[in-house]
Amino acid sequence: MRTPLVAGNWKMNGSRTMADTLMAGIAAGLTDRPNVDVVVCPPFVLVPQCREQANGTGISVGGQNLGSQESGAFTGEVAADMLLDFGCEYVIVGHSERRTLYGETDEVVAAKARVASEKGLVPIICIGETLEEREGGNTEVVVTRQLSAILEIAGTAIFPQALIAYEPVWAIGTGLTASDAQAQEVHALVREQLAAQDAQAALATRILYGGSVKPDNAAGLFAQADIDGGLIGGASLKAQDFLGIIGAARS
Ligand code: PEP
Repeated sequence: MRTPLVAGNWKMNGSRTMADTLMAGIAAGLTDRPNVDVVVCPPFVLVPQCREQANGTGISVGGQNLGSQESGAFTGEVAADMLLDFGCEYVIVGHSERRTLYGETDEVVAAKARVASEKGLVPIICIGETLEEREGGNTEVVVTRQLSAILEIAGTAIFPQALIAYEPVWAIGTGLTASDAQAQEVHALVREQLAAQDAQAALATRILYGGSVKPDNAAGLFAQADIDGGLIGGASLKAQDFLGIIGAARS
C-alpha cells in the first residue's frame, strides 16, 4: 500500500569522482528495479552530475535543503525552482543539523516544507528529539510541537505527498539506533497525529526512520507497521551498504 522509500543524505561529502563511483555502484545493484523508491541527496554542486547518472536507473535525486524564498537577495540560498530546474524531485527539510547548527526553527522548517510542496518538490521533513529531551521524557512533546508547526504553517494538504522522517537526534551519526519498538512507538504517534487531521492522508503518508541505519539493523526497523523506509546518512556513502538497506526495504 505504501511503497517504501530509502533516501541517502550525503551531507557535505563527495567529489565528482566519488559521486561517479557511488552512483555507478548503486545503479549496478538496482538492475531488477525493486519496489522501493530510491533517492540520493548529494551536495548541491553534485546534483547535475548525479541527475545525469541517475537517468534510466530509477534513482531519484533530491536537495539537502532549500531557501524559503522564491528568489532574490539571499546569498548562499538555493530556491525550489532551481532544484526543479536541475531535475530534483525531493528535498530534505529541517534536518537536525540544519536545526541545531544553523538555527532553523520549527516555523522556518514549516515554511520550507510549504514552499517545497507548493513548487512540486516532495519534502522529506525531519523531526526528532535530542537525547536530553528523550531522557527527560519529552519525546512526545517535542515531536508533537515540530509536527504541529508543519500542520499549521504548511497545512495538512501537503500530505500524503510529503514525507516525514523521524530522526532521533541522539541516533544520527552516533552508531546508536532507536530500537525497533522505540522507533515504531514514535512513528505510530506521528501517524495518529496526522490522522487526527486527515485519516486518509495519514494512511498513505510515508514515515521514514533515520539514525544510524545499517544493512544489519534495517530489516527489523522496516518490518515495523508504521516505518516505511529510511533516511540514511553514513551508510548511503557506500554503495554496498546503501543497497543492503534498499534490499531490507523491499522484503
Ligand atoms: C542523517 O543524516 O539523516 C542520518 C540519519 O545519518 P546517519 O545514518 O549517519 O545516522
